[in-house]
Amino acid sequence: MKRACITLDLENDWYFEDGECDHLTLAHLGEYVDMIADLDVPVTVFAVGRTIERFPDRVAELARGIDAEFHLHSYGHDLSKSYDFRRELRRGVEAFEDHFGRRPDGYRAPQGNIEPSELAALDEAGFAFDASVFPSYRPGVYNNLDAPLSPYVPEAAETLVEVPFAATPWTRVPISQSYLKLLGRPFVRYLESTPLPDPLVFDSHLQDFYRTASHDRLDQPLKFLHERNLDRSTDLFRRFVSHLRERGYEFTTVSSVVDDVRPEVVGR
Ligand SMILES: [Zn+2]
Repeated sequence: MKRACITLDLENDWYFEDGECDHLTLAHLGEYVDMIADLDVPVTVFAVGRTIERFPDRVAELARGIDAEFHLHSYGHDLSKSYDFRRELRRGVEAFEDHFGRRPDGYRAPQGNIEPSELAALDEAGFAFDASVFPSYRPGVYNNLDAPLSPYVPEAAETLVEVPFAATPWTRVPISQSYLKLLGRPFVRYLESTPLPDPLVFDSHLQDFYRTASHDRLDQPLKFLHERNLDRSTDLFRRFVSHLRERGYEFTTVSSVVDDVRPEVVGR
């Protein structure tokens, strides 16, 4: 059985830190919950520590409304990385633990930007998995064209399993909601006729589905890129989920995938 994991990064839309554009997409949480309930898929949520601290009621609403499993998506989603990683991680774990009453098992780095020393720190801190590596290329952010497409234990870790984001096997285009939206129907048609990875870890954000005033604050060309096909984003997502079902994919969580593959990949 092939496995697909829908993942959601729960964070402040475009990281504008002022009152006017603060987590505006949370206003669409109800619509998101309805869509996921309708599609009847579990969602693996990676939540930013600060988002959990500031919007505990919305996080609880999401947990109640859908079949969700929660993990950590850093403490502050600081893209400058001007922090001590271990301290940032500790703060994130504290925020998570205060809300959920347990430590997170999984971690996802902002923008998939993770380094070997950080993987080692996650391993040491007892995380079961990291789900940050895009096995593709993004100028100036990462070049992981030779990274595996399926789960593995990174060199820097002993038992931590890395669960990479889905990408097309040869062309290495990320299979995520932002790419479905950016490239639209031709890309969905391409995915429908090309081999897909197993497991398929699909990334999404609320801001990939719903337009808010935050979009207007983006500079070009980002604004153009992020607004492309935004009005049909949920349709593209629904179509792709149905397609995966037709291809025989079973929808599951990242934790279950890690439990399945652990005996195979640890100690390899
Ligand atoms: Zn993020």
